This record gives sequence, structure tokens and C-alpha cells, in this order.
Amino acid sequence: MKRLAILGATGSIGTQTLQVVDAFPGRFDVVLLAGHSNWQLLLKQAEKYQPACVVVTEPAAFARFQQENTDPKLVVLSGMEGVLKALEQFPVDMMVGAMSGAAGIEPTLKALELGIDLALANKETLVSGGSLVRKAQQKSGAKIIPVDSEHSAIFQCIEPGSSCLNKILLTASGGPFRTWEKKALYQVTPQQALKHPNWSMGRKITIDSATLMNKGLEVIEANWLFDVDYDHIQVLVHPQSVIHSMVEYGDGSVLAHLGRADMRIPIQYALTWPERQGNPFPKLDFTQLAGLEFYAPDFEKFPALALAYAVGRTGKSAPAVLNGANEVAVAAFLQEQIGFMDIPALVQWVVEQHIPVEIESFAHLMELDRWARQKAQQFVQQHRQ
Ligand code: NDP
Ligand code: MG
Repeated sequence: MKRLAILGATGSIGTQTLQVVDAFPGRFDVVLLAGHSNWQLLLKQAEKYQPACVVVTEPAAFARFQQENTDPKLVVLSGMEGVLKALEQFPVDMMVGAMSGAAGIEPTLKALELGIDLALANKETLVSGGSLVRKAQQKSGAKIIPVDSEHSAIFQCIEPGSSCLNKILLTASGGPFRTWEKKALYQVTPQQALKHPNWSMGRKITIDSATLMNKGLEVIEANWLFDVDYDHIQVLVHPQSVIHSMVEYGDGSVLAHLGRADMRIPIQYALTWPERQGNPFPKLDFTQLAGLEFYAPDFEKFPALALAYAVGRTGKSAPAVLNGANEVAVAAFLQEQIGFMDIPALVQWVVEQHIPVEIESFAHLMELDRWARQKAQQFVQQHRQ
């Protein structure tokens, strides 16, 4: 049995990971579950999967979990310290990194340090701390198997040892506002932005998908995962989300990964890799597809994508600052403090004030992240609606 730690167990990726576990009885042993505020769901998950340890990172939720938990054998820990301690104390074969945002960075680095293989959904970790992740991975030899659907697709299409990879074609649905006029985007409400046409995901990534910042973060993620430079990562808008990404080779061959818009497919591939296993989930029906379309992205209408490319090329600490600022911008938009088009404006404003430096350590990264968030808050105060 493969022993799993699932971080972000109560979220969209976490709950779908548990559905994959359900589909393979006897194959996975859920040893550790971590969630933040949703103690009710964590309790239900703990009852069903009988992990050795549960970590509740949010203090009030931890207190409620402790009150309601009736299993005396269950080890219950709190906070990020609890997550790190649990990873040290409870041996696992793989950690599913599905916390949202920069919170995922520290446990990811810890897992790599301990030599634990990663099924990594949390793209913010690679965007912010790519260089630290690379170092930790090289030291321990732990593997990172991508869960993000595009990166799982690329991972599956890349031929090991191939010397003539031309470029990565990273597909994007284009989000809910693909066909909107730019001026209408200034009026977008959180409710409108939270309706993704093809995927059902957590709130932060859904807003990122609407601004195309998500695709920008994925470009940076692809650069770190596959060591392909920015000139050879091309974003392609593909509204049907059937092709999850492609790889073009020098002989003119293009390998693509197709499938339903179902995150359980890349999650399962990461959990069972290097094996591919059958599952009972619905399959793609080509007779139901009206057609597959492809467009170049509109960088002018979606400035976040152009910004992420530029910041990725700058490298060093610039992507960490972009990520921290973006997290504040998305939260402020969801709270209706700033408008939709203020999100890329805020991120650009913060990035422009930053002088990129090499990231020396996790503590240094957190310092940079804090600076970015403080600057971003300053923008929010000045532009409050
Ligand atoms: P959700 O918002 O649905 O879930 C986030 C999870 O992280 C929850 O378990 C939440 O706990 C936990 N969490 C939130 N804040 C903190 C914190 N400060 N400290 C510790 N844990 C925290 O997000 P998704 O599942 O959609 O996304 C998770 C990650 O996967 C993101 O990085 C996203 O970019 C990436 N991803 C997601 C995809 C998707 O289809 N959903 C696709 C590709 C990548 P609680 O709910 O208990 O508060
Ligand atoms: Mg994706």
C-alpha cells in the first residue's frame, strides 16, 4: 500500500484525491490529512479513512475539531508547525500538495527535504520558491509528479531523453471572459468571475483563471518543472479544454494529452505513476465534441499573462513578489474592495517597485512575500471602491 499525506484535504483537489483513493481499495493508505478551517469535513474524512494523524492549521477550527473528535487514537496537531511535525513523525511514500496559495511552500520544501515524493497541485510553491524547490529536490532525489492538468499532460507527452523538443503548447480555456470586450471587464463582479466555463475549482484559482494569471503562473510552473525556457512555452487558448496541453518535437510531431475536464485523471496519474491504471470515471466521447478551437491569447485584454511572462523571464525573486501580490489582489477582489481589472494593475504596481534578488532561504522568501503583501495592501487602501 502506498502511504499518503494529503495536505489541503478539504479543498477541491483534496476531496478529489480521496475519490481516487476510493476508486482503488487496498492500494492507498491515508496516513495524514491536513485542512485549514473546514473541521467538519476533516472529522468526516478522519472517520472514513482512519488516518494516524490529522492537522488543522486554523486555530479556531483546531479547537472545534478537538472538541468533537471521539477517536482517542487519532493524533491531532495544529498550525503549520503541526504539518511539519507530522511529516517528520509519520512516514509516508507520497505527499499530495493541495493547499492553496503560498501556505503550501513550507510543507513542500519539508517533504522534499525528507525525501518524500510529491504529487504537486500547489503551483504557487513553484512560482514563488522554484529555486528552493529545485535545490531541495536535487539534494534528496525526491520526485515531483505534477497534478495541474496541463503539466500532467506535458509530463505524459515528454519523451525521456528526447533531444529535439521544440516547444510546449500550454492550453488555456480562456476563462469566462474570453469573448468579452475589454471595457466590460472593468465591471466584472466576483460572482461572474467565479463561474468557470469548464472546471470546478477552489475560489482563488477560479479568479486566477478569469484574469489568466493562472495561465501565467502555469507558464512559470512549466519552466521549473520541465526546464524549458520562456521562448519555448506557448500559451494556446482552447475553449473546449479537451486537449490539456501538447509538446512539439523538432521532427514536426506534436504529442497531445486529451481527456475529460476531470481533475481526478491527473491526480490519479500522479498517485499511480509510473503505472497507468483503469478507473470507473466517465470517459471522453468524441462523437459529442462539436469541434476543437485554438486561438492566440489576447495579452492586451488579459495583462496578467504578459506580466507573468515578463516576471518569469526576470526570474530571481520577481515571481515570488508577483505571487504574493496576486494573492492579496484576488482576496481584495473577492471582498469587493477592488475591481477585476485592478488585479493585474495591483500586481504590476508591486512588481515595478521590486528590485529582484536571488532567494537565499525559506526565511528570505517569506520576507519577500511579506513585503509584496504589504505593498499590495497599500494599493488596496488607495483604490478601495
Ligand atoms: P481550495 O480552495 O478548494 O482548497 C484549498 C485547501 O487548502 C483547503 O483544504 C483549505 O482548507 C486549505 N488551506 C487554505 N488556506 C490555507 C492555509 N492558510 N494554510 C493551510 N491550508 C490552507 O483549492 P483547490 O483545491 O482548488 O487548489 C489547491 C491548489 O491546487 C492550489 O494551489 C491550486 O492552484 C492548485 N490547483 C487546483 C486545481 C483545481 O482543479 N482545483 C487545478 C490545478 C491546480 P479549508 O478548506 O479547510 O479551509
Ligand atoms: Mg491548470
